Amino acid sequence: MKTPMQIEDHQNTKIVATVGPACSSPEMLLKLVQAGVDVFRLNFSHGSHADHEEVIHRVLKLNEEYNVNIGILVDLQGPKIRVGKIKDETLELQQGDVLTFVSEECLGTMEQIYMSYEPFASDVSVGERVLVDDGKLILEVVETNKKDTVKLKVLYGNSISSNKGVNLPDTAISQPAMTEKDHEDLQFALQFPINWVALSFVRSAKDMKDLRALIEERGHAAKTIAKIEKPEAVKYIDQIIKASNAIMIARGDLGVEVPMEQLPSIQKRIIKKCIQRARPVIVATQMMDSMITSPTPTRAEISDVANAVLDGADAVMLSGETSVGAHPVTVVEAMNKILAETEKSYSMEGKSPKLSKKSGTFLSDTVCAAAAKIAENIGAKAIIGLTISGYTAFRVSSHRPPCKIYIFSEKRQILSTLNLVWGVRCFYYDGFANTEETIYDVVELLKKKNQVEQGELLVNTGIMPLADRGRTNLVKITVVD
Ligand code: PEP
Repeated sequence: MKTPMQIEDHQNTKIVATVGPACSSPEMLLKLVQAGVDVFRLNFSHGSHADHEEVIHRVLKLNEEYNVNIGILVDLQGPKIRVGKIKDETLELQQGDVLTFVSEECLGTMEQIYMSYEPFASDVSVGERVLVDDGKLILEVVETNKKDTVKLKVLYGNSISSNKGVNLPDTAISQPAMTEKDHEDLQFALQFPINWVALSFVRSAKDMKDLRALIEERGHAAKTIAKIEKPEAVKYIDQIIKASNAIMIARGDLGVEVPMEQLPSIQKRIIKKCIQRARPVIVATQMMDSMITSPTPTRAEISDVANAVLDGADAVMLSGETSVGAHPVTVVEAMNKILAETEKSYSMEGKSPKLSKKSGTFLSDTVCAAAAKIAENIGAKAIIGLTISGYTAFRVSSHRPPCKIYIFSEKRQILSTLNLVWGVRCFYYDGFANTEETIYDVVELLKKKNQVEQGELLVNTGIMPLADRGRTNLVKITVVD
């Protein structure tokens, strides 16, 4: 094993970094982890299976060599719609021009342009808006034959280029949440011990239940993330949060699909709901966008990252900044500094998790809430928990206690899964003999790792009797001897 990494430098708010050509070498992945990355995101909208497999092996090797628990998040593309190839790459347009989109592949000209969504003509209606390239080009449906041809008038924008993304904010999409490509990508990814699977353009809780069923069918331990980027997802957010293990506020597409001025309040509302339901939540897209080319962030970007921390996000995400940017390491270092500084003024006021007597986990939820309260009251150095499913870690973290959260598990894969979760640091432990011995062992282990010192106070959560492998039902105060 190489020198263990100094994980103390990582902040409570986690950093998710998207992997791409700018950072996929083993050396760069290591540098990014040292700079503060907790989870790597593989974006299946880009790259081949061979590319992703190589990165997965590199991250797993890094975890083993440096004794860290870096998570792997697989992001499925979902029903992303694109315009086809344009002759000479770009077509110049005038306001009022009428374009014809067809469902048969062709090279785009003023006569006809390919739209990569087969039911386009049958789904859209006259008067609906079609946004291209993050809304830089706005079109309006003027005619559809409901089969394969749609006429659109240019309302705003002056050019269209090859393969640009399309959003249909006014249209009820008939395509299922998971495309054929998503099914193939999922089956491919589930060959490996990845941690999280994110689904794009989620519209209902059923989308997430279906994804979970596919993962469980393979007997895989990966957990699910719903990417919130459609108005329907915002509308049904409570049910979607309930049906998912975590949420990503995917502000890129969301900012095109809903009126952009609503983004900040939607972000705050979703984060609060996630904390209350103990679901990790990631704030994504354009957080440090200018650093794709510039070595320093804009003042507005610094405030955006800080604001996500103050909102209570579990994680902040980098996309192009790390995948194709010119300064992948610098951007992570800068983000880490903003997190460290902002966490000093973090407050949980008005966001506390709800305890529901109707919930099947009410008793252990109450024990986790009590552990967080006791830790705060006695000024504990850390809350220590044991987990098999990760549940105790999600629950304890959702109280955002003002101390470390050390989680022990005999499931190696869960250690890196929990690396996405606010404040959680994980350790492998498989000596689950009895509760007393386990509490003694884990404290000794933390002493050996110089995480705790003599005289410090710890709050242990535990399970008694341990052999039952039930839910957390015990809190104990330990003084480190
Ligand atoms: C987004 O739209 O904000 C997002 C994260 O999705 P993707 O990067 O997959 O388009």
